[in-house]
Amino acid sequence: MQYNIGMERIKIAIIGGGASGLFLATALKEKKTVLFERGDRVGRKLSATGNGQGNVTNLAAVETDYFSVCGENGLSKAVLQSADVPSLYAYFQALGVLLSADERGRVYPAGRQASALTDALRFFVAQKGVDVRLSTRVCDIEKTEGGFIVYAEKGVEGHKTQIFAEKVVLCAGGKAAKNFGSDGTAYALAQKLGHSVTKLYPSLVQLKTDVTHTKTLKGIRVNDGGLTAVTADGARHSLRGDIIFTDYGVSGDAVFRISAFIADKIAAGARLEVDFLPEVTEEEIFTLLKQKRTAFPDLPEMELLFGVVNNQIGRAVLKRAKGDLREAARLVKAFGLTVTGSLGFDYAQVTKGGIPIAEVTEHLESRFARGLYFAGEILDVDGPCGGFNLQWAYSSAMRVARALEGV
Ligand SMILES: Cc1cc2nc3c(=O)[nH]c(=O)nc-3n(C[C@H](O)[C@H](O)[C@H](O)COP(=O)(O)OP(=O)(O)OC[C@H]3O[C@@H](n4cnc5c(N)ncnc54)[C@H](O)[C@@H]3O)c2cc1C
Repeated sequence: MQYNIGMERIKIAIIGGGASGLFLATALKEKKTVLFERGDRVGRKLSATGNGQGNVTNLAAVETDYFSVCGENGLSKAVLQSADVPSLYAYFQALGVLLSADERGRVYPAGRQASALTDALRFFVAQKGVDVRLSTRVCDIEKTEGGFIVYAEKGVEGHKTQIFAEKVVLCAGGKAAKNFGSDGTAYALAQKLGHSVTKLYPSLVQLKTDVTHTKTLKGIRVNDGGLTAVTADGARHSLRGDIIFTDYGVSGDAVFRISAFIADKIAAGARLEVDFLPEVTEEEIFTLLKQKRTAFPDLPEMELLFGVVNNQIGRAVLKRAKGDLREAARLVKAFGLTVTGSLGFDYAQVTKGGIPIAEVTEHLESRFARGLYFAGEILDVDGPCGGFNLQWAYSSAMRVARALEGV
């Protein structure tokens, strides 16, 4: 379609009023900016982050914490370094939001309400005069001379609108948690303008496992257990946290966090090893089991781990060990579970994969359609649990803001 003389004309169109779109809108000085949000409110996902407490960054966040399906790339490093954790602290301070960190370095608004982050951003965006168009879904973007024509549908009736924008920033998120508006359909907007999209994987999600040995454990929680993920290439990643056995596999914060390290490697083969007693060695457990067997000859075989681990877990371990005490001690320390999948995008917090970083310039501008930029989760960068993904939303948005402001 040709640019029509009567068409509304703006400088910058921001597509998506989530974390990155809001960060960007606050940072732009340009008055003729329109932010399109398909939902009836901006920042709905942001308000739900960190279990409603808003884990906005992590004191330990550095570029090497981030993943990319396309492999390591220098650009995400540069982006994170240019708008880093101290810069995000200062940013929120300037918006009147005090941040405070917990003992694990996770940073929250001091009042522990994620909605405070959204409110601060929303308020500032309004004060700056950014034109926020709610319930307006961008359904197409067309490159035209000197800019883009942005096609949108408004309201439930789908009333069609068109606007000419000199620059467009896609901040439409990924495919995770579609109830917050990010259902993955926005990738098509970029694909139409020449971009590719990597394979996408749900990350920060509960995992499905082969339940052969855990059928009797449904509902049992291992508090602060050890969890190791092992992938087909032999890579291992270990952490501590809660593990809950379910009918489909495992959940709990440890599982959730470890999923980020294996989400794209499950198809190639991955397993988990649960350590039920991280503070005790295998040798100590073996010695204890031998002593118990000698001291209590009448104690049923299946009760030997009574008083050591949860009874149900003890029985599952001893059943699997088939009477071999050495094997039982090993299983207490490394109860192996084959990972068969995850609960999927609807349950995931983050999308692994997206628009390849190689397809954007150092300013996160499209290499195929100049004037088109990207920020946030839509790009092929994701972080582990703990504030890293909102930090990326912030860093990438600030990178784009600087480019648009010509700084
Ligand atoms: C339950 C939950 C808890 C989380 N907790 C944390 C946490 O504590 N810390 C952390 O760092 N990360 C957390 N995350 C991840 C983090 O929220 C996301 O990585 C981050 O919000 C991504 O920002 P974004 O702007 O790229 O996308 P989003 O925040 O997903 O925003 C994208 C926006 O674009 C809109 N949109 C999509 N398509 C269109 C279209 N065609 N037209 C108009 N609008 C459109 C959507 O409605 C949405 O509002 C959590 C995620 C979830 C789901």
